[in-house]
Amino acid sequence: MQDTEKEGIIISNASELFLGPVTKHEPVYSNEIADAVVIKKGIIEAIGETSIILSNYSKFDYEIIDCKKRNAVCSSFVDSHTHLVFAGDRSHELRMKLQGKSYLEIAQGGGGIMFSVNKTREASESELENLALQRLDEMLLHGTTTIEAKSGYGLDAENEIKILEVIQSVNEKHPIEIISTFLGCHITPTDFLGNQWEYIESMMQLLPQIKSRNLAEFVDIWTDQGAFSVEESTLFLEQSKEMGFKSRVHADELENVGAAIMAANLRAVSADHLLLSEAVSADAMAEANVVANLLPATPFVLMSKKYANYQMFKDAGVTVALSSDFNPNCYVLDMQTVIALGCYMMKMLPEEALQASTYGGAVSLNRENEIGSIDIGKSADIQILDVQNIASIPYKFGVNHVNTVIKNGKIVVENGIKVE
Ligand SMILES: [Zn+2]
Repeated sequence: MQDTEKEGIIISNASELFLGPVTKHEPVYSNEIADAVVIKKGIIEAIGETSIILSNYSKFDYEIIDCKKRNAVCSSFVDSHTHLVFAGDRSHELRMKLQGKSYLEIAQGGGGIMFSVNKTREASESELENLALQRLDEMLLHGTTTIEAKSGYGLDAENEIKILEVIQSVNEKHPIEIISTFLGCHITPTDFLGNQWEYIESMMQLLPQIKSRNLAEFVDIWTDQGAFSVEESTLFLEQSKEMGFKSRVHADELENVGAAIMAANLRAVSADHLLLSEAVSADAMAEANVVANLLPATPFVLMSKKYANYQMFKDAGVTVALSSDFNPNCYVLDMQTVIALGCYMMKMLPEEALQASTYGGAVSLNRENEIGSIDIGKSADIQILDVQNIASIPYKFGVNHVNTVIKNGKIVVENGIKVE
């Protein structure tokens, strides 16, 4: 360490400091209006009023970021549902979608999920890595510092492992922390149609290798009409659980086949999509502490009128997360856009949508003790926005408001530019 190296960072004079759920922040100062955060050794050390903080910490020892009451400050985003790694651009499908072509017609016209699978199979590991790193840069510039990334566009042993290796490799190269999920059972690839069990077994055979090489922490499966049945999914998830994997489920997206209730019965950490879930599913999830991971960008790009029922999950007492579902058919890397969709399409309040995009995502990844809110002792994963209040994130939508991003106490984006 050089002599000139500072001990940490003080963010002062925030116009709004959104802490999120705070457990350890005890108000040390009476009548305080917290607008400052002290970061030391990558950890949030103190939260309080600027004048008091600045009298307790030497400005010679800390780098001061003075928000001058112009910038809102909050935890950086935790995007807990992404399909980060795939090859192939599907912008050509948009015209077909807008002209009302069905999923099947698009697939027959050379598009759809098998297009992405074929392009991903053809791509080398380094090509996939470069694509993933570009996407991670975009996410970081838009305030995301932790994501979940799934496999699921390889759909055979070799290519599913290839994708997981890419996730592991880019995690080491990029400031964004990545939590990896094995989604071999995304859909049954066309070469296995009619032999669904055989396909599931081939994916289960990969579990020991994935475990021993630490290639994934979670497994995921799409339990739905036209994907995997509740019976098949239960078998796969139970087997995975025995081997030490935590589980997540793509649930109740196209049909309510009871996937959310299955997720509750199997104590999955997160059930995602949930467009068609009913109150009984929400109650079961609340009882089993399953996070409802809502992905409003998906119905948006599908031009569906059906969004997840946020109020129902809230009323049931379920922890709600908000995520991008970044994938070749839903190309959104920006959580601010997802927040706007959460507000305007699901009637989430701005602070609810922001909390779901930070703390909710952290709970959905079992990381709520480390990240997801501005709290003493937590990792300093913080963003400074060019808006005065957090309601302006969805209010002034369609613009990247992120000015500064801090990951583990290190400035990784400054004035909207990635720090290399
Ligand atoms: Zn998904």
